[in-house]
Amino acid sequence: MKTLLKGGGVVSGLGVRRADVLLADGKVAAVEAGLPAGDAEVVDCGGKLLFPGFIDAHTHFDLEVAGTITADDFATGSRAALRGGTTTVIDFAAPDKGESLARGLARWREKAEGRAACDYGFHMTIDDWNGDISREIGEMAALGIPSFKMYMTYPAMMLSEGEMFQALRRLREVGGIAGVHCENDGVIRQLTAEAKAAGRLSPASHPRTRPAPLEAEAVGHLLRLAQLADVPVIIVHLSCRESLDEVRAARRRGQRVYVETCPHYLLLEDSVYDQREFLEAAKYVCAPPLRRWEDQEALWAALRGGEIDTVATDHCSFTLAQKRAGRYDFTKIPGGLPGVEHRGALLYTHGVASGRITEAGMCRVLCENPAKLYGCWPRKGVIAPGSDGDVVVYDPKADGVITASDQAQNVDYTPYEGYRTRGSVTRVYLRGRLAVDQGAMLETAGEFLTRGRNQL
Ligand code: MN
Repeated sequence: MKTLLKGGGVVSGLGVRRADVLLADGKVAAVEAGLPAGDAEVVDCGGKLLFPGFIDAHTHFDLEVAGTITADDFATGSRAALRGGTTTVIDFAAPDKGESLARGLARWREKAEGRAACDYGFHMTIDDWNGDISREIGEMAALGIPSFKMYMTYPAMMLSEGEMFQALRRLREVGGIAGVHCENDGVIRQLTAEAKAAGRLSPASHPRTRPAPLEAEAVGHLLRLAQLADVPVIIVHLSCRESLDEVRAARRRGQRVYVETCPHYLLLEDSVYDQREFLEAAKYVCAPPLRRWEDQEALWAALRGGEIDTVATDHCSFTLAQKRAGRYDFTKIPGGLPGVEHRGALLYTHGVASGRITEAGMCRVLCENPAKLYGCWPRKGVIAPGSDGDVVVYDPKADGVITASDQAQNVDYTPYEGYRTRGSVTRVYLRGRLAVDQGAMLETAGEFLTRGRNQL
């Protein structure tokens, strides 16, 4: 099966150039102007942008949280991803305490296998520490899982500081890298206890118990441990200006620090938590919480300046009924937002069409940088001969509106309800096969992606 995408603007991290793209046998076969059609099906892409398939390196599908389970599993979440142009997701394999990493990985692969519609990989969560896990970190890297996740908050997931330091040193030995959730757990617990004791139990307490300085403190703390361990790290879902300051300080010391942010930190602000209607506020509960308008501006400036490497969604969806569990106690609201379906159109609309970033900048943070950082470059993240035939056809003129009534995400709201988009994803190819056509989903099968070392 061959497809010739004719006359589009092919986007890379360097810019946009007019070229035809030939997809054959699941791969990009050629990228050149004036390619002959031969026996390929020709698709007119005049006026369209052709992005490499977007990579979302931060999703949570089929995850148990707070006695419930995310609304999206690998079937629905991956279809929603594809519909928005994301052809690869990297989710998190989270072993239970006491479980081996290998067993945890096997369980998570079972959740995805035969269900995922787009390609997928896993970061391995390190939420326990002992000699076996230290050894297994090396085995995981050899199995194509070179990226890991650690938490500085959530008692069920946290390592002690000494353990985290040992894990960082071990990652250096095996050439692995960790993304870390940075929030100061002890003070958050204290502020939460104070809010509860005072009877302040509404969602308005959520951002007040997890203020920006406690994220920045943890970022700075982690970066000093990483400095001592002499290992690069990734700050996942960075949300505020104060954390950027900590990253800048570490980079000035010569440390390699990678930064991820999410569309909700770029576009939404913390005043939503003060709404009187419980669900209107609860549906935005996530950690770190949404921040102030000034933080959004700081993140956009950092994105434009290349200080932020990737934009991922941290998609972790719960229905409004599930959010209702925290009706009388904000700490019982399952935390997380849906978003895997809308990242590309949101970033195009509020980034590219608003003049804050270029098409190339968007390609770097959605495609090129995550492919390099997570070790699947140049198979993913670029439209070049030999790469997987993952292509997003973006029509800058096909304006749209985001609404829960028209989404593939298996959830009954979107934080971006009513948001207009400049342009939209009109076609998506996954390894050379048409996967999405004008919003309609075709049958596809995702493949497990083994990855190598960080190349960013
Ligand atoms: Mn997450």
